[in-house]
Amino acid sequence: MATEISSLGEFGLIDRLTREFPLVNESSVLGVGDDAAVIRVPSDKELLVTTDLLLEGIHFDVRYVPLMHLGYKAAVVNFSDVYAMNGTPKQITVSIGVSSRFTVEHIDAIYAGIRIACENYGVDLVGGDTSASVTGLVISVTCLGEVEKGKAVKRGGAQETNLICVSGDLGAAYMGLQLLERENTVAAQSGDPNFQPNFSGKEYILQRQLRPEARKDIIEKLREAGIVPTAMMDVSDGLSSELLHICKASDVGCRVYEDRIPIDYQTALMAEELNMNLVTAAMNGGEDYELLFTVPLTDKEKIERIDGVRMIGYITAPQLGAALVTRDGGEIPIRAQGWNAFNNPAETEEVEVVEETAGATAPGDAASAESDGETQGES
Ligand SMILES: [Mg+2]
Repeated sequence: MATEISSLGEFGLIDRLTREFPLVNESSVLGVGDDAAVIRVPSDKELLVTTDLLLEGIHFDVRYVPLMHLGYKAAVVNFSDVYAMNGTPKQITVSIGVSSRFTVEHIDAIYAGIRIACENYGVDLVGGDTSASVTGLVISVTCLGEVEKGKAVKRGGAQETNLICVSGDLGAAYMGLQLLERENTVAAQSGDPNFQPNFSGKEYILQRQLRPEARKDIIEKLREAGIVPTAMMDVSDGLSSELLHICKASDVGCRVYEDRIPIDYQTALMAEELNMNLVTAAMNGGEDYELLFTVPLTDKEKIERIDGVRMIGYITAPQLGAALVTRDGGEIPIRAQGWNAFNNPAETEEVEVVEETAGATAPGDAASAESDGETQGES
């Protein structure tokens, strides 16, 4: 079924898109439907605000990113930024620009993904806007969150001798993107409209690219263990880039051990298959949405008891700079690679939009992690 967006009108479309979003948070006093939403901020809390803009052809490619996954990811990457401040995401607003090749059903699919993300993370959709676009699909999500007064964890608090920790594993989302791009090229070259991409045994890296999760679980475990990181951020642009952000903001240096960087087996296999350097992929891949944080040395034993967190190095004096310690004991200076989702933006007006999930599981089942360079705290 294909319903033209113009047949509903802007208000009809907004009504349709937002009717299945109940408000679950006490702080959401008034949601969609008035001139503005009303949010209550308790006197012992502070409000966190983060925003993220996704542009077709720059941040995603609708030839292989199912729209439901896109909606899910657009929401989750914002949640990840709020968790990375040691906060809890509470509300989002979603603004969408759509060109004429998208139908009401396409937009429904994006909102279905957003709804599942909101359900999984207990977040309320409280507003947004829709508009016609002449440059393809545009999605902008703004997330509001709350944090105990004075307890937000910033990038600038890392101190000499602090341990550097990272959750989960790195590089998988990047290898998932490489896989999707390869299969897309093979499909185009085959000229076969029924071409079936081969994703077997690669589900994890696909899921990491198409349906990342924010590490709410890690924030909860840190709280339970009584650990307050000295500095924290989420890994959206790649470990190298994020380490340099922390070093710069904290005026420190760091040493990270190559053999301590957590990498999944599927990531390693895919890198081998594509003849790519695994450590480079893990250090610079991006879109992992894992948490990178530093803790005092005295928290070492507590960190060791937390599943899914690994200590990868330590903070040094600023004059030592940031370096990767290789397996043979050598040191390589860490540089930001400036990761970009797409070096060659696609011709957006002629591509077909995928309707079905491309092999990853649908974003319904909860699991426990952006690349584009969000700017909160950097500007
Ligand atoms: Mg971030």
